[in-house]
Order: sequence, then structure tokens, then C-alpha cells
Amino acid sequence: MNIPRAAALLMLTTVAVSAAPGGSGSGGPALSSPAMGPLHIIGGPATGGCITGAVRLPSQGPGFQTIHLDRSAFWGAPQTIANLERLGQEAAAAGLPTLLVEDISRARGGPLPGGHVSHQIGLDADVGLDMRPRPPIVLANLNGTELRSLVRPDQRDVDPSVWSPREITLLHMAANLPDVDRILVNPAIKQALCREVTGDRHWLHLIRPWYGHAAHMHIRFRCPAGQADCVQAPPPPAGDGCDATLQWWFDQLNAPPKPEVPHVPPPLPAACTAILGEAG
Ligand SMILES: [Zn+2]
Repeated sequence: MNIPRAAALLMLTTVAVSAAPGGSGSGGPALSSPAMGPLHIIGGPATGGCITGAVRLPSQGPGFQTIHLDRSAFWGAPQTIANLERLGQEAAAAGLPTLLVEDISRARGGPLPGGHVSHQIGLDADVGLDMRPRPPIVLANLNGTELRSLVRPDQRDVDPSVWSPREITLLHMAANLPDVDRILVNPAIKQALCREVTGDRHWLHLIRPWYGHAAHMHIRFRCPAGQADCVQAPPPPAGDGCDATLQWWFDQLNAPPKPEVPHVPPPLPAACTAILGEAG
């Protein structure tokens, strides 16, 4: 709550987008149809983009459920969907509760009604982090289920009433999926991993602090092979990230609020106009 609203507006993953091509007001993202044809990913996580040949994550499967069906979208590149299904299976095998999957991308990518510049090319997925034992969510409650934050209200550490080794198990599992580019979590969660993970710490390299992300992790997968129009972000900096770059986030909590700066979404790649336009 101490993160200035201006900073929140600049968040890579939650900037407001005023209009979603394809008609955000006409049925929502989950109702859009994919652009058929081979997989073609255009754009990158920082600029937005679009996708053809996307496939949809089933609403439930071994070890996972999708939630917020009324406002989320569950389409992605085939590798994204396969990796999420694999994560569900591995989580179930480890005795973790059913994973709750939020946004992936719309059927043709492009801006999501709720923002999410980086959820536009079928390579990003939000998965709830709260691994306290619980039964699967019943159908009637899927839309009303809100993920529980793992971070204290003052943002300076994890909430010990929720945080446990189970969440570390899930994050480790996710970081070991094939093709993971990085996983974004709240700085307090990254800090807890830095403090508590023993033995193999190599995977901490992929866990990066970012605004928000207190209740879910944002898994970003790398551009699949052969996708020349998919813009791959540079890899995370070397090392486990448990250093001054992490402390910077906590220093910001003490900084005076910055003035709000309206965010203007970057223009979509021109090649996306036809793909997204067909969705309306
Ligand atoms: Zn996300």
C-alpha cells in the first residue's frame, strides 16, 4: 500500500489500457476466437503484441483451475499452456493445493481490458501463490475468488500467517519449468526467498522483484524457437538478485510519493492490426 500510485501506474503488468481492440465491451476476452494458423507471436512483453495459433488452457485439469472467468483470458502459445498443465501436475504430486490460474492472454493477444501490457503475446501467466491447504474452488465461486496476499500491509516482509515452505516449493517448481524467462514476485517475497532458500539457490536468478505480485506470481516464458517476430527481453542480470538491487525496492517505501504520470500505452506492432481487428 506504500507504493505510490504513480509508480503503480507505471507498472509493466498493470498499466491501464483504455480500449482493447477486438471489442472489450462485447463479451469479454474469454469469448474471442483465436486467429487460426500456425503459431506466430508478434511483439514483446514491453511493447505488447498479438498471437496467432494460440491454444486455450482448459478451465480445469490435474492440479489446476482457472479463476475469474468473467474478466480473465486463458489463451497462450502451446508451450505456455503445456508448461502450466505440467506445473499443475507437479504441484498435485507434491501435495500442494489446486493451483489457481488467472490471466494468460486473449485468444489473439493484444491488450487485456484490465491492463497487462505484458500479457499480450501468449507467453505470460499469473498463478496464485497461496499454498495453504484447501479444497478446490467450487464452480459457483470461481469468479468471486480473490487471491490472498502473501505480503504484510506495510510491504516490508511476507505475512507469516500465509507464507510457508509450501510457497517456496511452488516457486522452485515454476522456476524449473522449461523455457522460463523470469518469474515476477513482490520484493517482499523475493526477500523471503533470499533469506530462507538453502542448498541450490541457482533458480533464484529467475525470480525477480516487481511492483504488486503479492498474491500471484507472473511467469514469463521465452520466445519459442523460430518466432522471429517475438521480441525476447534480455536475460535477468547474473547472480541470485539478493543484493542492492533488491534493497532498492525497500528504499522506495521510504521515498516521498512521486507525482502521477499518465501512462500512454506503446503502439501495437502494425502487423497486429489485422489480427486483432478480425476479432471484433
Ligand atoms: Zn501478470
